[in-house]
Amino acid sequence: MAERPYIVGNWKMNGTRSMLAEARAIDRSSQRLMKVEVALAPPFTLLHAVHREVEQIGVGAQDCHPGADGAHTGDISASMVSDAGAKFVILGHSERRQDHGETNTLIREKAEAALSAGMRVIMCCGETEAVRDEGKAESFVSRQLKASLPERIESVTDSLTIAYEPIWAIGTGRTPTVEDIEAMHRTIRTLLVDLFGAEEAEEVRILYGGSVNAENAKELLSADEVGGALVGGASLTAESFLGIVIAAA
Ligand code: PEP
Repeated sequence: MAERPYIVGNWKMNGTRSMLAEARAIDRSSQRLMKVEVALAPPFTLLHAVHREVEQIGVGAQDCHPGADGAHTGDISASMVSDAGAKFVILGHSERRQDHGETNTLIREKAEAALSAGMRVIMCCGETEAVRDEGKAESFVSRQLKASLPERIESVTDSLTIAYEPIWAIGTGRTPTVEDIEAMHRTIRTLLVDLFGAEEAEEVRILYGGSVNAENAKELLSADEVGGALVGGASLTAESFLGIVIAAA
């Protein structure tokens, strides 16, 4: 397990103000677990409220527009989410790629906007089940990541986190084997070293995401090169999310 694992909850399209109590409970308990870095990505509508509610944990957004401002009805820019309290943005999530047709090029532009606004990027990547069955998961993920990441990133270690999330494991209760996760994370590390140089890339945390829960977290987090977890469903209550945070401590 990484020295200070990073456990990030992605609330997706869940949560109204009644969920602020969960954020508060997660924050209070995380204060006692300094060995773990904990963060939440609530929906836009709760971003500022969660930011005001918590003291210890990080708060981030689930998306941002690549542009600075202007006539983009319904969109939210990087500087807006930063102003609302976001310290990072999750980008490249498979649900945005699928539901909104987001391409690698668009994701790269969004990443550039988020970095320019002074936020960290959690860049997601992952293969479909068909790609894995064909034995092409690692080459697919390498290509996807290379095309989604900005070419130049200042202070890569502080600005970038990768989340490997096999699409077939998201919300399904299925997870890859520890060996498969380790192989993929090694492939991602090699790519990061190629792109950004060993000194910076060695320290970038590579999270695993896909059906992580309190029961399987210890095993998944013990895999080589796994620097933490991106958690969907199990981040929606303080009880289930804290079970993962405790397993990481
Ligand atoms: C996710 O979508 O980022 C995710 C990991 O979801 P879940 O934990 O529900 O599989």
